[in-house]
Formats: sequence, structure tokens, C-alpha cells
Amino acid sequence: MIETDVCIIGAGPGGTATALKLSYMGIPCVLIDKAAFPRDKVCGDAISGKVTTLMNRLDPQILKRFDAQAEQTDVWGLTFVSPNGKAIALPFKQNYNKHRDAAPGYVSKRLEFDNFLVEEVKRRDNIDLHLETAISAIERSERGYRLSDEEGKLQVDCKILIDASGAHSTFSRKQAGLEKDLNHHAGAVRAYYKNVKGLHSDNFIELHFVKELTPGYFWIFPLPNGEANVGVGMRSDIVKKRKVNLRKMLDFIVEEHPKFKDRFEGAERIGKVAGYGLPLGSKTRVISGDHFMLVGDAGHLIDPLTGEGIGNAFYSGFIAAEQAEQCLLKNDFSAAFMKAYDVRIKRVLGSEMKLSYKMQRMASYPFLVNAIANIIAGNQKVVNVITGMYTDFNLREQIVKPAFWIKMFLKK
Ligand SMILES: Cc1cc2nc3c(=O)[nH]c(=O)nc-3n(C[C@H](O)[C@H](O)[C@H](O)COP(=O)(O)OP(=O)(O)OC[C@H]3O[C@@H](n4cnc5c(N)ncnc54)[C@H](O)[C@@H]3O)c2cc1C
Repeated sequence: MIETDVCIIGAGPGGTATALKLSYMGIPCVLIDKAAFPRDKVCGDAISGKVTTLMNRLDPQILKRFDAQAEQTDVWGLTFVSPNGKAIALPFKQNYNKHRDAAPGYVSKRLEFDNFLVEEVKRRDNIDLHLETAISAIERSERGYRLSDEEGKLQVDCKILIDASGAHSTFSRKQAGLEKDLNHHAGAVRAYYKNVKGLHSDNFIELHFVKELTPGYFWIFPLPNGEANVGVGMRSDIVKKRKVNLRKMLDFIVEEHPKFKDRFEGAERIGKVAGYGLPLGSKTRVISGDHFMLVGDAGHLIDPLTGEGIGNAFYSGFIAAEQAEQCLLKNDFSAAFMKAYDVRIKRVLGSEMKLSYKMQRMASYPFLVNAIANIIAGNQKVVNVITGMYTDFNLREQIVKPAFWIKMFLKK
């Protein structure tokens, strides 16, 4: 039996970020994952500036080691394509210089990215890492929670349990009560391809609002060595209502859709199509309680518009680590004290989630997306304003206001 103050289940981005943050704060913890790393995780593999900002904040050496790896592409922008086929290339930074500036985003296979994070964990001598250990029982103990694995190899008794075990977490669903709500959940599938034609020379990621998939989208994210992560995603209530088979939809777009079939002619699919759920943060949930906090997907913290969850898993991990420090200092592990975690998550991520949810709902009206695309297309002044939104949240908030688009229309 290991007795520890903090035990984290799951060594994905959320769990490793929590463990690393605790470690740098001088707080030992136990980190457990059922997988042997490197392991795959179904994802689009796009990593935003949020992640690298937080890595750098923790220790600039981590970011240096990440940058030195050859396994990711540097991403300099995104191409958004409206249902009427208007392609709009939006750099993440104006006048960027690839040789001078740090890339504002990356695409890295999770097989490699998550392994990088686990290697960072192994560098720290105050993180007790247990891999290939699936937690199968979690029950209350006098100190907090007692966890044990399937094979009875490991038992941990902790004051604070941090559940970072992802979208399919049993603890989150059954003990913390976060039921799946199809209106605030998405399904997505992805496959790796080699030799897709027409990728952007500066690795812009591509989001296509294909008519047949509205309000979901089709993506192509460029990877190193001529590979790409290609997938489709849609809100689960709509998947259910329309009986959409996402795997068939992906095959249709790639093989038959007039806008894409030429780009995929001669491309080779590597491995299988794989799918996984995305618990979206468009509904406020209680993500802490007596002696526990939920981090990342276990806390339903994925951006409801873009499907980005790695950055939010990192943010929530850092905030959970800071809350754990407070609990240990005050020797208070009650739900009432832990509530400060929910409050901070709402403060940091709440406005962004709200805005993304509004934009997600706007995206379900193809005529609106087409009208916006018509305003932006071919107008460099408007493109510059939109580019500024990547780093300026106040500016981004304008995007859901009709007055903003009237102003942009008049700039034409
Ligand atoms: C198709 C798809 C595309 C996506 N695209 C993007 C994207 O491009 N960019 C982006 O930012 N986000 C994307 N996301 C979301 C992103 O994948 C998640 O938000 C992110 O992985 C959350 O990290 P996490 O650490 O919370 O959970 P996970 O990454 O799921 O990690 C959970 C860990 O817990 C372990 N675990 C689970 N159960 C147990 C157990 N019982 N005992 C021990 N260990 C356990 C697992 O092995 C795993 O390592 C996508 C999601 C999907 C499904």
C-alpha cells in the first residue's frame, strides 16, 4: 500500500501536466496509467499555442526539448473552407518569419507527443510513475480515496484523487456524476494518410465545413514525412438524429466528394480509421468534490467549436495542482474548499467555452458561414483583423456580433 497526498489516474496531457506542475512546486505525487508508452490516442493531433505557453511557463527547457524533436510540424495558420467552397487562409500571426519566430502551433502524433510528456515525467524524481497499471476500483477511505488495480499489484491511499483518465472515465461518470449529454458531446473519427495533395507549404491546418457534414467539419492536419491526420467530427445528438455513420462519411469525402477526391487520388491510408468521444465544455459541470478533482476530458473540458482538448487538459492540470497545494496547506479536502477549482476553471476557460459554443451554433447555419466567408474572402484588411483574434480574446468576442460583420463588410 502506497500512502501519498496526491494520486493522479491517467498519464495523457491532463495527468502529466498535473504531475509536472506538482513536481515543480515540490509536491510529490503518484501517477498511474494503464498503457505502456508510447501509446496511441485517437486525436486530430493539433497542438495549440496554449500548450507550448504552459510548457514554457513551467520550464523553458521542456519547450526547448520539445522544439528539438523532429516528430512535429510547425503550423503557421489555418485554412477555413465554407460550405460554398470559399477557402480562406488565416495566418496565426501577421508577417510571420519561420526562421525567426517560434511556431504558434504544431501537429504531432499523440503516439509521440504523449510519450514526450511521459519522458518529462520520468526526469522528475518526485513523481512515482506506474505504467501498465489499470485502476479498476476506487473507494472512499479515511484519508480520502483508496485505489487498486485489476491484478492487485498496486494499492494507493491518497488525500486527493485527480482523475485525468479521459473521455471514458468511469469515476467521472459513476462517482462524480458527469453523465454523457449528447447535446454537449461529439463523435469523431480519424485516419492517417500519406501523400495527400495540395497541403499548404507552411503547414496550415485545414477545416472544411462540408455541406453534407454541417454542423460538423472535415479536417486535414499536416504531419511530418508527407503524412496527414484526416478526420470528421460532429455533435453526438446530430449523429444520432441523422443516423450518421462517421466512418462512412470519411470514406465518402475522401473517395467520392468532388472537392476532395482529386487530392486523395494516389494517397495511401496508413493503419485503420479510429474513433473516440469528445466530452464538450459547452455545459457547466461540477468537476470537483470531497477529496477529488476532474482534469481534462474526465472533466468535460473540450472546446465545443474546434474540438481542442489538449490545451484545456493542460490548463486544468495546472489549476488542479495549485488547488491541491492549497488543500494540503490548509488541510482541507472538503467539497466546499475544493470548489475553488471549479471557480478558477470557469474564470480561465469559461468565456472561451461560451464563445465557442455560440460559434458552434452559428456554424450549423450554412448560409451564415457562407456569408461570413464571402465577407472575408479576398479582403486582406479583414484577414488581418481575424488573424489578430488568435491572440486577442476581446477581439475574438466580436465574431458573434452582427455589427462586427457589418463593419467588416463595409471595409470591402
Ligand atoms: C478524433 C478526435 C480528434 C481530436 N483532435 C484534437 C486536436 O486536434 N487537438 C486537441 O487539442 N484535441 C483534440 N481532441 C481532444 C483530445 O484528444 C483530448 O481532449 C485529450 O486527449 C484530453 O487529454 P486527457 O489527458 O484529459 O485524456 P487522455 O488523453 O484520454 O488520457 C487519459 C489517459 O488515462 C489512461 N487511463 C484511462 N483509464 C485508466 C484506468 N482505469 N487506469 C489507468 N489509466 C487509465 C489512458 O490510458 C490515457 O493515457 C480530439 C479528440 C478526438 C476523439
